[in-house]
Amino acid sequence: MINPTRIVIVGGVAAGASAATKARRTNEGAEIVIFERGPYVSFANCGLPYFVGGVIKSLDDLLLVTPQLFAERYRIQVELQHEVTRIDRVERFVEVRDLQSGSSRRVAYDRLVLAPGGVPVLPPIPGIDQPGIFPLTTVPEAEGLRNWIIDTKARQGVVVGSGFIGLEAVEALLNLGLEVHLVEKLPQLLPQMDPEMALLLEAQLLQKGVKLHLGSGVVGFSGKERLDGVEISTGETLPAQVAVVAIGVRPELTLAREAGLEIGSSGGVVVDDGMRTCDPAIYACGDVAEVLNRITGKRVRLPLAGPANKEGRVAGANAAGGNRRFTGVIGTSIVKVCDLTAAKTGLGEREARDAGFDPLVSYTHPLDHAGYYPGAQVMAIKLVADRASGRVLGAQIVGPQGVDKRIDVVATAIHGNMTVEDLEGLDLAYAPPYSSAKDPVIAAGFVAANAWRQEIEISTPSDVARVVEEGKPIRLLDVRTDEEYEKGHIPGAQHIPLDKLRDSLAKVHRDGPITVYCGVGYRSYHACKILEYHGHQTRNLSGGFTSWAQAFPDRVEQGKS
Ligand code: FAD
Repeated sequence: MINPTRIVIVGGVAAGASAATKARRTNEGAEIVIFERGPYVSFANCGLPYFVGGVIKSLDDLLLVTPQLFAERYRIQVELQHEVTRIDRVERFVEVRDLQSGSSRRVAYDRLVLAPGGVPVLPPIPGIDQPGIFPLTTVPEAEGLRNWIIDTKARQGVVVGSGFIGLEAVEALLNLGLEVHLVEKLPQLLPQMDPEMALLLEAQLLQKGVKLHLGSGVVGFSGKERLDGVEISTGETLPAQVAVVAIGVRPELTLAREAGLEIGSSGGVVVDDGMRTCDPAIYACGDVAEVLNRITGKRVRLPLAGPANKEGRVAGANAAGGNRRFTGVIGTSIVKVCDLTAAKTGLGEREARDAGFDPLVSYTHPLDHAGYYPGAQVMAIKLVADRASGRVLGAQIVGPQGVDKRIDVVATAIHGNMTVEDLEGLDLAYAPPYSSAKDPVIAAGFVAANAWRQEIEISTPSDVARVVEEGKPIRLLDVRTDEEYEKGHIPGAQHIPLDKLRDSLAKVHRDGPITVYCGVGYRSYHACKILEYHGHQTRNLSGGFTSWAQAFPDRVEQGKS
């Protein structure tokens, strides 16, 4: 039997609530208390944007466990609107302020779990304090934002920041009928994604009527008694009666810093794999902690709900006398952007390079299920692997449906240290309404594994663009039909349809390697094999013209060959 112990938990949402209930299951004799400075415990902050937009009708649906349930079922004491203001590591107590009465008291602990999450970044931009400007991280903020839009009959809104919360806020404001401007300092949306994949989201938002201001920062919020405009670095003032500031969250380190706990280079509290800080009586978990990235071996912060819940579980178990390990993250995320889903797992191309890998990159554009079964839709997959070992390092997928299941298959493969050849061999579920006999992940595996085995050399659109930009000669061969070529092709490409290629070999350039492309890379793969047989050196353009046009929409030429 584990000795009874008093466990104090700071923060009662994702990590804190998980820690508390796991601690209870680990040690029935422990005294467990959660201090939460907000008015709610264990709420689903991930659902807040959907409440704002009216998809989730009632805030009650987002309140997952009430203090009463914590007390009755788990014998866990929850004290809402109580802020922990200091940790005394020597005497092992915390100072707690009752935010309603203003009184403070000391509460002793045997084990302390820090799960204070993050706080939204709100830079000191002139005018940021005026009514009508909201972060979107808590229940009161979401409620305030929705009520403000409805009560003031706001017609125009500005969202600042195009991360997950910013994009979800854009959709919420669209749902409420607002004209929406999205301001992003970087030149692309969703900075976690590689730029060419993020372009798909840009097209989607433009199609929905969102006004994009990429590469622009907010320099001021204007208005007399309440917001009426957002001034951006281009000199424009965007008309707005409401603004959502979603430029990130920083870890809530106040307590940890003051208590002298070690803070890592990523900006999170340093913990071991049992979520113990440098003080063995104190655990940290969730957005405040830094954890191991299983691919790079580096310590990172990954402020997402999945890791927070799992880290909380480990911290809670160990604080209660257990012996659990948190084995790290790979960085899997997903976001709905109107009619599209964008998901990422593992490393992007540049991240892989920065981590010291030589990335092998491939693109595929499969249908989410059999083309002959109604409703099939194309998704774009970018796979990143280690050229040396073939190990899968990451994937990014954007499409209207079926994205969620594919990204999780790749995430599982990364967890299992699988290679692109392993992806080829996966035995996945198939029937026409759900997938194809060659599931999108398997098809991505085929393409990447062919390249990895050097059965075929592949180039990416960026490789081709780089050669063009450097002014070096490049031979491009388009093997699509006349109709496809005329609608749009890469400038300077020679055109010979695949079905005529064997009879037109004399026309094919002989001077240097040829980059061959078709719609998505399948017909051109075949063309490469024909040309190789006849002594040509070839490269297949991965993802074909589809990937080219996604990455370089302004470098497309129309007309006959
Ligand atoms: P939090 O959930 O932030 O909880 C920390 C709590 O600690 C807060 O309630 C705070 O009031 C309390 N606290 C802080 N300091 C003190 C103190 N000194 N004393 C007492 N209490 C204190 N992640 C995903 O994976 N998928 C999503 O779709 C997703 N959507 C999101 C949408 C929104 C709008 C937001 C805001 C976040 C979203 N996230 C999502 C991120 C995810 O919610 C967080 O990563 C997760 O909640 C972090 O859990 P946590 O317990 O570390 O911190």
